[in-house]
Amino acid sequence: MEELTTCAYELDADLRIIWVDARWSEFAIANHAPELASPPWPLGQSALACVADSTSAMLYERLFQRVLRTRTSIALPFRCDAPARRRYLNLVIEPRTPAGLRVETTLTRTEERPAVALLEPNAPRGGDLLRMCGWCKSVDVAGRWCEVEDAVAEMRMFERGCLPPVTHGICPQCKERVSRELEAM
Ligand SMILES: [Zn+2]
Repeated sequence: MEELTTCAYELDADLRIIWVDARWSEFAIANHAPELASPPWPLGQSALACVADSTSAMLYERLFQRVLRTRTSIALPFRCDAPARRRYLNLVIEPRTPAGLRVETTLTRTEERPAVALLEPNAPRGGDLLRMCGWCKSVDVAGRWCEVEDAVAEMRMFERGCLPPVTHGICPQCKERVSRELEAM
């Protein structure tokens, strides 16, 4: 069982990163952003620049702006899997005193599973891009979003010479979930 960990960072009112905690580098590596994992930390950079896909960046911006405006925190569950582990996290965005935001992600639960090669960051890739939801880690199989293990089986990835490259987006279900959270406030 993996230790339950938390990673926090703080943003100014313009959504620039002004502080990251000691867990940051571990978190950046787990989130496939090794370029952000060593000093100089992305201090002064826009937090939105660290979000891989534009739809998610837009949703994060709306979430951040909501919390800035209403000074009410938001909590959203999301997944950040390792090849051999489903990792369930909770994202909390809260107002920071006197200004800006504090963002905290907490690992709430993990489940072991046989390693999914598709999630190995260094596996050789080729062929068509595969779309994965950056929030729940489901995979778009011809318009149907399924768990990564099911997608691997369904697309017969084991029989193919090499794994498809993965791009991140957001599935309709997560988009709906995040939009509901935005409307609820
Ligand atoms: Zn999703």
